[in-house]
Amino acid sequence: MIRPHIVILGAGFGGVYLAKKLVPQVKAGKIDVTIINRTNYFLFTPLLHEVATGSLSASSVAEPLREVFAGTGIQVIQADVVSVNPATKTVTTSVGVTEFDYLVIATGADTNYYGISGAEKFALPLKNLVDAARIRARIIDSFEQAVLVNDPKERLHLLSFAVVGGGATGVETVAELSDFVHEIMDRYYHNNKAHAGTPGSCNADELAITLVHTGPEVLQPFPQALRTAAADRLKERCVSLQLGSTVTAVTKDGLTLTDNISIPAHTVIWAAGVKANVPHFEGGDPTLVAGRLAVNEYFNMTGNERIFAFGDVAAYADTTPKHAPLPMLAQVAVQQADMVARNIIASIKEKKLRSFEYHSKGSMVSVGSWFAIGFIGRFKLFGKLTWWMWRTVYLFKFASWKKRFRIMFEWTLEVFYPRDITKLE
Ligand SMILES: Cc1cc2nc3c(=O)[nH]c(=O)nc-3n(C[C@H](O)[C@H](O)[C@H](O)COP(=O)(O)OP(=O)(O)OC[C@H]3O[C@@H](n4cnc5c(N)ncnc54)[C@H](O)[C@@H]3O)c2cc1C
Repeated sequence: MIRPHIVILGAGFGGVYLAKKLVPQVKAGKIDVTIINRTNYFLFTPLLHEVATGSLSASSVAEPLREVFAGTGIQVIQADVVSVNPATKTVTTSVGVTEFDYLVIATGADTNYYGISGAEKFALPLKNLVDAARIRARIIDSFEQAVLVNDPKERLHLLSFAVVGGGATGVETVAELSDFVHEIMDRYYHNNKAHAGTPGSCNADELAITLVHTGPEVLQPFPQALRTAAADRLKERCVSLQLGSTVTAVTKDGLTLTDNISIPAHTVIWAAGVKANVPHFEGGDPTLVAGRLAVNEYFNMTGNERIFAFGDVAAYADTTPKHAPLPMLAQVAVQQADMVARNIIASIKEKKLRSFEYHSKGSMVSVGSWFAIGFIGRFKLFGKLTWWMWRTVYLFKFASWKKRFRIMFEWTLEVFYPRDITKLE
């Protein structure tokens, strides 16, 4: 094989970090690499909730792929993957057909509505930039409508928000949402003489924010002390916790939960889970494990040594405790990318492939401005300093200084000025 062509599907955390690892081989003229992605940018999902709640601009959390790979020799194609054909070693996309010698599937995951009635139609997901922009517009629009309404009940309905899912994304989103809506309420809404309330208080008759979670506590994978600290912080921030309840239906007026509980909400944000984005395979469906592409310990898809899959889209075929499913996290995808790069090179050189072991570097979750919880090894952290660490860690995950400076600038601006409430259509 002369200069094998490696095609990577998906330029998220997995795809981008894998391509970066392969750059020295591309520059040495040993391999060709093409990365195919739906958007022309890499999206930094951990800060998406800050875009949805007006702290950061949309473009600050997106890095153009052509900029990321400028001068590396890596080819970038912006296209939708339509299908994979393992027999002909081709990928069909919205812009044509690409041949591969090695294929890597890193297409991540999409919002999972679990077939719940009305969820896809009425709830707003938070998975990409368009979702974040839509949530922000809805929040601002709710205030623009409420200010025109005289009936207090109708006004309260317009200003009722619910977030579904008490994992990291749901908690971060509901906390920032609370900060954002209280800022709008205190700065602009209470200034309107028709609706004079008490700035800085929860004012349950004017505003409702609910976090709905199936489990008995939020942030279940975190240690007890941190779960309690996060829950207490949410309550201080005027968020009502509806725990131990499962959503059975979503309508334009809110949520229906088990035990016939109703949560009125004009805005419902869905952060309840994801499902793998498995591409269509020509010539027969691939083997799946819990909806994810089944791979062996080297990330080869079952029965095909030339196709690798990793990140959110893949799971070990072997489901014994030795290969317990890994969490769908950026840090998992990034660590796996390193091993997939090594294994592709090993496979080209006909050397032995290596299996992967995940080492968690800890985890942090922000709970609104100036408060975060987290753990690093055995150390449990929470408070202002943890929040500062959380921001610093994420800032340095960006590839370019251009983005880091931009985010630092926007975060600094937010300390002195209110968040932007320009509603873009
Ligand atoms: C709001 C939010 C917050 C998060 N916060 C954190 C966090 O704080 N820490 C953490 O560790 N993880 C976090 N995660 C999870 C993390 O984003 C994922 O685990 C990680 O991105 C998985 O990497 P991946 O490469 O497998 O998939 P992704 O990063 O999702 O990348 C998949 C890529 O494939 C592209 N794609 C999909 N289908 C197609 C197609 N048919 N054609 C072309 N392109 C396609 C997508 O556009 C995307 O660019 C968060 C996720 C969300 C949604």
